[in-house]
Amino acid sequence: MSWEFKCLECGDCCKNLRSNKKFGLLLLPSEIDLFPHDKEELCLGKGISPNHPEFVIWGFQLIDDTCPHLFENRCTIYENRPMVCRAYPFKMNSVTATGELVFSISPECRALKKAIESEKYREGMASRSLYESEMAKYIGYWLNNFQRWIKKEDTPWLYNLEKKEWEVSTLKF
Ligand code: SF4
Ligand code: SF4
Repeated sequence: MSWEFKCLECGDCCKNLRSNKKFGLLLLPSEIDLFPHDKEELCLGKGISPNHPEFVIWGFQLIDDTCPHLFENRCTIYENRPMVCRAYPFKMNSVTATGELVFSISPECRALKKAIESEKYREGMASRSLYESEMAKYIGYWLNNFQRWIKKEDTPWLYNLEKKEWEVSTLKF
C-alpha cells in the first residue's frame, strides 16, 4: 500500500512569512487582488532608480508575518492561492550558467521532515512533489525572465520592508 504525502495542517508555512524581516511572501502582479491592498507592498522592479518615470514594477509582497487568509491553520483561498504557496516546500534558488534551475526545499515543513525520516513518506512525496516542483519552476522562469529582461543600463531593485526603502538587488535568479 503506497503512502500519500499529506500536509499536516500545522500552518507553519503561512506564519513567519517575514522571518528575515526584510521581505514578505512574493506575489506575482496577477496575484495582488488575492489580498487586501493595505497588506501589500511593492517588491521587485527595474530601472535607473525607483523614482525614475520609466521604473517598471515586476512583483509585490505581503507585509504581514502571518497570512490574513490563514484560519484555524487552513488556507481559506486554497484553490486560488499564490504560486509560491503552490510551490511550497520547494523554492527556486538560482539558475546555472547553462540555464538549469536550482531548487531548494524548506526543511522547516513538518510533513517534509517526516518524509525525510520515512521510506513510505518518501514514496508518497514523489507523486506530490511533481506538482510543487512544477510550480517552483514557473516562479523560477518568471524570475529568470525578469533577470534576462534587465538591460545593461537597468538596475534590479528590491523593496526592503524593514527599512521601508528600495535597495539594489544582488540576487541572481
Ligand atoms: S509547513 Fe508543511 S505540514 Fe505544515 S502546513 Fe505547511 S506544507 Fe503543511
Ligand atoms: S495564501 Fe493560503 S497557503 Fe498561502 S500563505 Fe496564505 S494561508 Fe498560506
